[in-house]
Amino acid sequence: MIGRLANALSLVAVLAVPALGQTGPQLPLPAPTPYRASSGRPGHAYWQQRLDYRITATLDTATHELRGRELIRYTNNSPDALSYLWMFLEQNICSRSGITEKLDQPPLMFLGSTFDFSCKEFDGGVTLEHVRIGGQELRPAIYGTTMRIDLPRPLASGRMLDLDIAWRFTVPPYGAGRMGRDGSLYQIAQWYPRLAVYDDVRGWNHDPYIGAGEFYLEYGSFDVSLTLPSNYTVAATGTLRNPELVLTPEQRSRLAGARSATEPVPIITSVEAGKVGTPARTATWRFTADSVRDFAFAAGSQLRWDASAYGKVLIHTLYRPSAPEWEEANRMVRDALQYFSEQWYPYPYSHITSVEGPIEGMEYPMLTFDPRAPSREERQWVLAHELGHQWMPMIVGSNERLYPWMDEGFNTFIDLAGAARYFAGTAYGDSIEVHPLHLYQDHAIPGEEQPLITRPVEVKDLFWTGYQKPALMMQTCAMRCWEGSASMPRSAPTYGHGPINIQRRPISSVSCAMHRGWIWTGTGEIGCSPRPGSIRRWTLSAGLRTAKRFFCRTGAPCCCRSKWISHTGTARESESGCRWRCGIRDPNSRFGSDRPRKSVVS
Ligand SMILES: [Zn+2]
Repeated sequence: MIGRLANALSLVAVLAVPALGQTGPQLPLPAPTPYRASSGRPGHAYWQQRLDYRITATLDTATHELRGRELIRYTNNSPDALSYLWMFLEQNICSRSGITEKLDQPPLMFLGSTFDFSCKEFDGGVTLEHVRIGGQELRPAIYGTTMRIDLPRPLASGRMLDLDIAWRFTVPPYGAGRMGRDGSLYQIAQWYPRLAVYDDVRGWNHDPYIGAGEFYLEYGSFDVSLTLPSNYTVAATGTLRNPELVLTPEQRSRLAGARSATEPVPIITSVEAGKVGTPARTATWRFTADSVRDFAFAAGSQLRWDASAYGKVLIHTLYRPSAPEWEEANRMVRDALQYFSEQWYPYPYSHITSVEGPIEGMEYPMLTFDPRAPSREERQWVLAHELGHQWMPMIVGSNERLYPWMDEGFNTFIDLAGAARYFAGTAYGDSIEVHPLHLYQDHAIPGEEQPLITRPVEVKDLFWTGYQKPALMMQTCAMRCWEGSASMPRSAPTYGHGPINIQRRPISSVSCAMHRGWIWTGTGEIGCSPRPGSIRRWTLSAGLRTAKRFFCRTGAPCCCRSKWISHTGTARESESGCRWRCGIRDPNSRFGSDRPRKSVVS
């Protein structure tokens, strides 16, 4: 569907005048090293650590206690000897006696709503039963949601060690908005002690989890065995390895049929939901995954389950009988999976599973938690948005704790085009892609607007700064962008921390821009400009603030001018034609004046 987006945008990109050779300010860049070029690209000696987790855990659905033991193999591929390790104990965000509880965090506003990153008075936290290396008991230092383990002896470069940790915690009903339980449904994430990232940029990335920032984790493998009452159905990151022990012959037969189905096949029907298995017995579900940076799961005893396929990828949607609207969810996820795979990069994992429940929208490898959502538009948006995170950050591995705009912004950009495709021919579908532009005037307030790179714990308007502003930036880039440019580099770019690099597509504005370094190190200006000179400056770096607010008269022609300055000082400018008008729906245009919808949160 890139042609659709490109064609639509070409309607307005009638004045695309590159101005190569102009000079702009030189931006300070770090000196190159063997590990990383000054542009940020990996160098010839680039390295990543590796983690291999083997976890066994049991969920007691009577007490809501999750108890587990994990063996972690940590491989030090860095050139440094490590005398200590940093780990995360994210469940400690729910500890009323922890340091996180003592922080006086300002509320995080998101499109008029306040994010609640607390556990709503629930007093939880993780209890460590033992932490061992080579049979030796260790006494880690715990700081809220982080933990430092001083090693008996430094871990030399190229060597590995095995950690043995046993732990337990009570699953909170509301786990800071990112995990929790509701009745017999459990949506479990941030649940096992895991290593922080050690990288060549910052060393240990042990910025604490205090709610607002999401995650930055090492890649590796998982082998996870989960024991629950046998009337529970479990969905998880990874491939189910023992279906013969946990699924009925009927379910296995239906799943086999779903592998060639483009329409959803009921695996557990509405009549069967809640009538599978017996609570008096337990069953152990075993999943394995490779090249992922996290593992999450959901379990419920009352779930419906639909499945279909896109190529070799199974699409699972699980939902409670109280959410019959989710009968369309499987089609929505499949459509977005196809679109993102064909547009950006083929989905590399064996399945994608979306589970309806109390979490308003969270993404984990191969698994998303999504709300019931009251309308088709919101349901499609949240399902596609959380799916879109499989590409960013799950595949590219960006640092969400520090840079939410990288995953949320790119993701919003691709979601807008995905929603326009799914709802094509409707008022919503034909106007959704202009929503970031309409948001611009309300959110880009001089003196208050923050740079894209603002950390989540400091951001005042995450909806704009982390989601819509970067999406609008990429839309303007796509308008004129380097489409068909003879100077486009032919080599594939490398982006991110992940094991899979998103390859440059022939006409891919984002990867094109990323490859050229124009987004990462440049500055840009955009104006919805009824008169010359009324332009706005993108605030990409901390030193750049909005210079001027643009006021657009209703009905005035609305043009977009963009200017990008690379780290070498080269500038490019473009200006769109005036094919839409401020604040007015043009029945002949795909751009309208609908107000933006409140959409997904994370
Ligand atoms: Zn998101």
